[in-house]
Amino acid sequence: MTAREWLEKARREKFAIGAFNVGNLETFKAIVQAAVSQKSPVIIESSPGETAWMEAENIVDLARNYSEEYGIPILVNLDHAESLEQCIEGIKAGYDLIHFDGSKFILEDNLEIAKKVVELAHQGGLVVEGEIDHITGSSEVYTGSAQGEIAKGKFTDPNQAKEFVQSSGVDIFAAFFGNVHGVFTGGGENLRLDILEKLAESLPSIYFSLHGGSGIPDDQVQEAIKKGIVKVNVNTEIRQAFKEGLQEALDENPNEYAMYKILPEAIEEIQKIVEHKIEVFGSAGKL
Ligand SMILES: [Zn+2]
Repeated sequence: MTAREWLEKARREKFAIGAFNVGNLETFKAIVQAAVSQKSPVIIESSPGETAWMEAENIVDLARNYSEEYGIPILVNLDHAESLEQCIEGIKAGYDLIHFDGSKFILEDNLEIAKKVVELAHQGGLVVEGEIDHITGSSEVYTGSAQGEIAKGKFTDPNQAKEFVQSSGVDIFAAFFGNVHGVFTGGGENLRLDILEKLAESLPSIYFSLHGGSGIPDDQVQEAIKKGIVKVNVNTEIRQAFKEGLQEALDENPNEYAMYKILPEAIEEIQKIVEHKIEVFGSAGKL
């Protein structure tokens, strides 16, 4: 099944596919193992920093190799690409989905580039995600409440979103309605589900993604899925699990030097997080 077919199935059956960021091979292994154990489709994704670190072709090859080895669908998404060039690199490397994040451009420029990305990507049967309102925060752990970071952004206006989606031709829309990036020790992540509802009403044939899937309470994520979210991005909680798992393994085994004996603990920690997310998103058993 193609990315588009999976998104369609998710919308029809009211579940979301987890889009999990990879920063190294261990993260990749953990996500794949979680998808296998939960019998779930999965999206592997890479931000510009992660793409530069892993290299686009390597990410696609790993996804294809694991997909064949375990017989599960692994879609590959270019996450928050910031220029036409980055999008073209992803298309050429064989990604299935391209997220062009033009939210830092003025709307006219965002639209112009998004149109070009859509044209090129659709020629190859790829799916394109667009964004107009910068989703604040970044994939790290913040001390305190999310409210301050949320207040730095502007919530998506459904009318403006409709105009952008219709003139750009994007397939997926990344809205900002309180879904800040990052994990906040003081909580305070509250989704404005009324905004999502209005968006879904005005754009019935568009797929909606939920960025900042780390740290949002599970029940809110599930409500958002009921209202039309079909793709949930998760990064920070994965980074956190990796770091903590690695730290523990290093502390417990100070004389161990074989990395393949040190890293399994980090992989296990990530796998637990991803398995839980898959359950929350309702994609378990969907293969
Ligand atoms: Zn994001």
